[in-house]
Amino acid sequence: MEPKQPLPSGPFLLDGKRADRLTPTQLAEVAARSALPVATVGKIVDHLADIEAELPLTMERLVEAVRQVDATHAVVRSMYPFPSLDDLRIGWELAGTDIAAELEHRLGGASGAGNVPGAQAVALNAFLAGWPGFGRALTGTGPGQYGVNVEFQRTVNRVQGAVYQDRLLRVGAFPGETTLTFVRTFVHEAGHATFQRYLIGDRLPMLVDQPDDTGTVTGDARTEAAQFWSQRSPAAREFYEAWMVLRRKPACLLGLDLGFVGSPEKRVARQVESFAEFCAEVFMQMATNVLPDHVLTVLDRDASQDVLKAWITVVRGLRAFARTVEK
Ligand SMILES: [Zn+2]
Repeated sequence: MEPKQPLPSGPFLLDGKRADRLTPTQLAEVAARSALPVATVGKIVDHLADIEAELPLTMERLVEAVRQVDATHAVVRSMYPFPSLDDLRIGWELAGTDIAAELEHRLGGASGAGNVPGAQAVALNAFLAGWPGFGRALTGTGPGQYGVNVEFQRTVNRVQGAVYQDRLLRVGAFPGETTLTFVRTFVHEAGHATFQRYLIGDRLPMLVDQPDDTGTVTGDARTEAAQFWSQRSPAAREFYEAWMVLRRKPACLLGLDLGFVGSPEKRVARQVESFAEFCAEVFMQMATNVLPDHVLTVLDRDASQDVLKAWITVVRGLRAFARTVEK
């Protein structure tokens, strides 16, 4: 396996010898030992060579690194359920990825990505890598895109964690919270900024967002709600009616743990209370792929026709939106 000519000096230190690139023989050996196509190995090795620091590698370690990066990419491609974030971090570090820069790039020049702690940044990057079209749709300014600016802050927003308003998504710091809490909160707010706007718009009349369960509201509020609906699509109305069914049976709703942003019970209560909150929450549950299992579990427990029909409508509505966002 020894190369015929002396290797030029370069970033690799392979088995004690410097090299800019692998010889075809070495490449073939890595490919054979990692059971990957030579072309794939070549790409991964090119990335490894981009790392500025010297990498003292043995052939064995290189084979392992190539395998690991490929496995990581495969996981990112399939994305759901969440891959081991440590594996992703190791894979990205091996590939020389600057996580903060990557996050800013995937979110159309978001600011303050450096404020996000490593593991949380890796997790959000993993989410966005799994659905790159979503980051572009959220932040892009072209037709069918949502033109949102994302700002990662250093300070904690103790009430909501993150806030979306007027095309600005401000994400506070989540010290000590799990990566899932961070990602779920981000995706929930991004759901207000995208899916909710797609379905029904930015601002809802109070009576639409929070229905009058006592039947005592009259006058202007009713007129405003009627006017609002006259300008909305049948699909929006259908989705809303589905929510009306599900909010009467809170046990049918899915409450996830969002750390300091809210316990599972609190997250269900918010969905019962407010249509906008329901939209953002089920969007987050769909985008992080926990909704299908939940719906199946509910249908095992409660097979009533109205609940079945309502969940089908909700899942269809979410899917219709997902189809408008490129992969
Ligand atoms: Zn919300």
